[in-house]
Formats: sequence, C-alpha cells, structure tokens
Amino acid sequence: MARLLARAEPARERVLVPIRQNCPGCGGHMRLRYENRRPLVTLSGSVRLRLKIRRCEHEGCARHRLAYRPEAEGAMALPQHEFGLDVVALKPVRA
Ligand SMILES: [Zn+2]
Repeated sequence: MARLLARAEPARERVLVPIRQNCPGCGGHMRLRYENRRPLVTLSGSVRLRLKIRRCEHEGCARHRLAYRPEAEGAMALPQHEFGLDVVALKPVRA
C-alpha cells in the first residue's frame, strides 16, 4: 500500500566526507564536487545524510568524472534504500 502521508523531516543531520582523497584509478587528487542528501531511518530515529562526493578530474583516467562516495555510507545503508542496515538486520523473515 502506498504511503498516504509524508514522513516527518529528520531531526538530526550527519555529514559524511570520503576519507580517500586520491583517485583509485590514477592516484591524482579528487576534489569535492557536489553534495547529495538522503533521509535514512535507523533504530535510533531518522537522520538526514549529507554526502560529500568527490570526482577525478583528470582526462584519460579510467575513473574520470565517476562519483566517489563516502565510505561510511555503505556501513549505514544499502544503495537506494531508505532504511539503515540496523533496521534491515532486525527485519523478521517469513517462513
Ligand atoms: Zn583518476
């Protein structure tokens, strides 16, 4: 069934920045190019993630203009999921 009401705005916000600054393809410096925001529901409540995204600007690099997202994001949620991994791990399985 579709959701009838919008979720409340998350009360908390967390900024995630990629630890790695050098491109895994060419080793050159990757600049912070833009920011994505995504809401995430966790067991401790909802939180808005502000993700700083890096990209390699070196032409000829195999990773040219490919997004490099914060490493911590993968520890918190699956891609394109609105629930955190802690919620997913507790989801009951139907037999
Ligand atoms: Zn590169």
